[in-house]
Amino acid sequence: MEVFEVQDRISCLDLRGQHQQVKTELFTAFEKVYDSHAFSGGTFVSEFENSFAGFCHTKYTVGVNNGTSALHLAMLALKIGKGDEVIIPANTFIATAWGVSYTGATPVFVDCTADSWQIDASKIEAKITEKTKAIVGVHLYGQPFDVDAVSAICKKHNLYLIEDAAQAQGAKYKGIPVGGFGEMASFSFYPGKNLGACGEAGCITTNSEVFYKHLLSLRNHGSVTRYYHDELGYNMRMGGLEAASLNVKLKYLSGWNNKRREIAEKYQQYISNSKITVQVQPEETESIYHLFVITTEDRDDLISYLNNKNIFPGLHYPVPCHLQKVYKHLDYQPGDCPNSEYLANHCLSLPMYAELTNQEVNYVIEALNQY
Ligand SMILES: *Cc1c(COP(=O)(O)O)cnc(C)c1O
Repeated sequence: MEVFEVQDRISCLDLRGQHQQVKTELFTAFEKVYDSHAFSGGTFVSEFENSFAGFCHTKYTVGVNNGTSALHLAMLALKIGKGDEVIIPANTFIATAWGVSYTGATPVFVDCTADSWQIDASKIEAKITEKTKAIVGVHLYGQPFDVDAVSAICKKHNLYLIEDAAQAQGAKYKGIPVGGFGEMASFSFYPGKNLGACGEAGCITTNSEVFYKHLLSLRNHGSVTRYYHDELGYNMRMGGLEAASLNVKLKYLSGWNNKRREIAEKYQQYISNSKITVQVQPEETESIYHLFVITTEDRDDLISYLNNKNIFPGLHYPVPCHLQKVYKHLDYQPGDCPNSEYLANHCLSLPMYAELTNQEVNYVIEALNQY
């Protein structure tokens, strides 16, 4: 591989290239929103909802203000609340647990597998009680979890399945896009996600008309007819400017995801240092590589080595959910979810975004191999 001097730091994520590429289109779209005053809900949101439902092969999409609200509303639509339990993976971004906790229900944490780092289906049944109502599977890092195994458990025990697809817009399981495998799926369009709004946004996808209609009411003050409120509702509508930015970017998403896949394939093929372990990709999954996570024994040492070479990896996530202070009262102990704890202590996220150049990718690989 050629030698290459980095001018600029190479970070885990850099949005400048993407936003330069679509700047003119974005500004044209923003001007349309501005001129039509459709700032909250409205035509740009509907346009996005229709396109995204098509993208996910689901009947309905409900746009909301962020991915955390999407999870919260999905739980409310299932009528989950105080006294209920919801099973989620221990290794995920904390918002997966927020959706459950906001309703008064209790998140129950399950460990991940040692190699794919997705929820370990074989450990779920031991956690099911009479109070269990649902399982939230997370397509973590953009890689689908074992949908067949988790769905089978849901069927057997009569539980709802929710997908947290915040990191997985366009990921596929057995060739089918995520978003339609359970009762509902939540997505985040936080700017740093593979499909990121210029602002905060999220959505819920579903094939159920009942859930769809309920979600429309919940996100809009519990109201179907304006100023008539049949239930406790929320203001969780998606903004027009955010929707307009998503309408522009959705057209590019598959291309951007393909670029990430090419970069990931290079990492997988050419990183040959035995001190580094990469995430195992089960055959039936097609990841969109929201993150490219590796583990190594002495993480701090590798981070400072990479920083010296102007490479700045990310860290997702340093503390697993079951050991977060906020859930202290649930009384989990270190050792309860050993694979998640190992990951939290040893993982780091390599640079991963569509605009990384070949030179930069090769430079990162060389640096890792020389470590
Ligand atoms: C980003 C994220 C969320 C929350 O989405 P926001 O839009 O930031 O509220 C939920 N779950 C996972 C796994 C995420 O990565």
